[in-house]
Amino acid sequence: MLQTLVHYFLHFIFIGAIAYWYDKKHWKRNWLILLGTMAVDIDHLLANPVFAENRCSIGFHLLHSEYVIPLYFLGAIFLKNYTLRLVAIGLAFHMITDAIDCFWMYTKCNCEIFEVFQGLR
Ligand SMILES: [Zn+2]
Repeated sequence: MLQTLVHYFLHFIFIGAIAYWYDKKHWKRNWLILLGTMAVDIDHLLANPVFAENRCSIGFHLLHSEYVIPLYFLGAIFLKNYTLRLVAIGLAFHMITDAIDCFWMYTKCNCEIFEVFQGLR
C-alpha cells in the first residue's frame, strides 16, 4: 500500500516539484511535459501479461532496459534544447522511480536481487 502510494506520488506529484525547479515561470506547462514522459510505459504493451504486480520494469521492458537508461541520464545532463532536456530529465526520473519500486520489492521478497531484476540477469 505505502509502496504503491510512494510510487504514484513520485510518478505524478513529485514531478511537479521537478517542473518548478526546472523553470518556476513555466512549471505548469513543464509538469504536463513531465506527465507526458509517462508514455515511456507504452513498452509494457509488448509484455505478456501487460501488467504484472510484482514485476520489476527495469531491465525487463525495452524502454526500461540497461541499453537506453544511460541515454536518458546523458540527455538530462548534456542536451541543450530546453524541452528535450526536460523530457530526458523526466525519463531519467521515471527510471529512478521504477528502480525504487524494484528495490522495495527486493526488501520484501526474501530472494536474490536478480530474481527481482529479472531482465538484467
Ligand atoms: Zn515505468
